[in-house]
Amino acid sequence: MSGENTTTKTTVRFHNTLSGETETFVPLKSGVVSMYTCGPTVYDFAHIGNFRTFVFQDVLRRYLKSKGYRVIQVMNLTDVDDRIIQKSAAAGVSIREYTDKYIQAFLDDRRALNLELPEYLARATDHIDDMVKLIQRLTEKGFTYTSEGSTYYRIAKFPEYGKLSKIDVAGMQDGARVDNDRYEKDSARDFALWKAPKTGEHFWETPIGPGRPGWHIECAAMALKFLGETLDIHSGGVDLTFPHHENEIAESEAATGKPFARYWLHAEFLLVDHEKMSKSMGNFATLRELFSHGTKPSSIRFLLASVPYRRQLNFTPESLLGAASSVERLRNFVSRLRTEKFEEGSSAAVAERVEKSMQEFDSGLADDLNTAQALAAIFDLVREANIAMDRGEFRQGDVAAVLGAMEKFDEIFAVLQDDDAEKLGALGIGGGSAAVSDAEVEALVAERQAARKRRDFVASDRLRDELAARGIVLEDSRDGTVRWKRK
Ligand SMILES: [Zn+2]
Repeated sequence: MSGENTTTKTTVRFHNTLSGETETFVPLKSGVVSMYTCGPTVYDFAHIGNFRTFVFQDVLRRYLKSKGYRVIQVMNLTDVDDRIIQKSAAAGVSIREYTDKYIQAFLDDRRALNLELPEYLARATDHIDDMVKLIQRLTEKGFTYTSEGSTYYRIAKFPEYGKLSKIDVAGMQDGARVDNDRYEKDSARDFALWKAPKTGEHFWETPIGPGRPGWHIECAAMALKFLGETLDIHSGGVDLTFPHHENEIAESEAATGKPFARYWLHAEFLLVDHEKMSKSMGNFATLRELFSHGTKPSSIRFLLASVPYRRQLNFTPESLLGAASSVERLRNFVSRLRTEKFEEGSSAAVAERVEKSMQEFDSGLADDLNTAQALAAIFDLVREANIAMDRGEFRQGDVAAVLGAMEKFDEIFAVLQDDDAEKLGALGIGGGSAAVSDAEVEALVAERQAARKRRDFVASDRLRDELAARGIVLEDSRDGTVRWKRK
């Protein structure tokens, strides 16, 4: 059968910001992918613009795993920066205490969106020594200078500076410095690796003097520590390309003399009414705000995953409703497959449809993670299988293959499990009667089936009402089986 070859040997292609081209992906070590993904700065709740990137990275790792790779992913948690220092001081707590709360929130939010845990979650403040050592290496090689207690990276010493973001540094004044971690392209300057303490600010006493690390050195040091001198994939939001990723390259390649990351993948912005979502724009939404207004975690995951990562995603209430109904349709389809009884035998047409859809699903994802194409393949399968069922052309022997296809889909998209209410309950949202578990529903449905069997319609109606009150809708089919779904 040809299917076997096409699924295992598909050529996977990613758009590489470094080359500006879509390239065939081949990891450095056969069978293993090392991947560094820039994580959140934990001074507040992450917003859904941030989660667009995190969902993309999750789809990426799940896809690579489905292709048989072992993925080693590192994500940093930036738990020291100007805002954190100011906010923790204002709150009268330590940096650690201040950031613990937002790290926990980040982990809870990740769980709600079915984001797999990276193999390493690294807190910047746990790796100050590694950052200091990397700065010392750069100093030994002549890439740094100090001024007023701070250590700066001299970009004139690194001729390749600008190769990722394609920034033109010709005519830039040597020695012009910037202390801020975040700055615009037109203010490309020597940047701070180590910042001298300001009065009253938290600092670390180290061999290179008292102070604290700049943002870019954090990621470079942790990437080198966990993944070695050259890693396969480095990814983040497109706004990190400059200066953050450009500076990470300058730091690590100057220190090691080796290429830092082989493939750079950048996710586009999430827009709200066609404007970039950001705190300063005031169009900022956290997951929790959306959840408490009744949005299901699965709707958000589906919406964020559905638009290919290099396209801007316009986030609107309508697009969320569309995502909710898509998830509903997929879940109902799986429930129909599992509960309806079909005639014995199998249908060649259905088998062919499954194979075709799976090939399109895989080739979509292999093409720079084109999730829109992959989803279209799945919805074609759902539509055609539903038609075959309605016409009585679907056979019991087709169930396993179609379910298998849906499971393959869910390995990547992870929206089929009907556990939104439980997840919201775990976050302390909704809860109460809404948080009825699947097992409880199954038990009540079985009880009602038993009542119907003994023709006790009073009991069966009472159970139906009880389920309805808890947001569960029943659909009785002609063959006597019953399907349920959450309203
Ligand atoms: Zn980073």
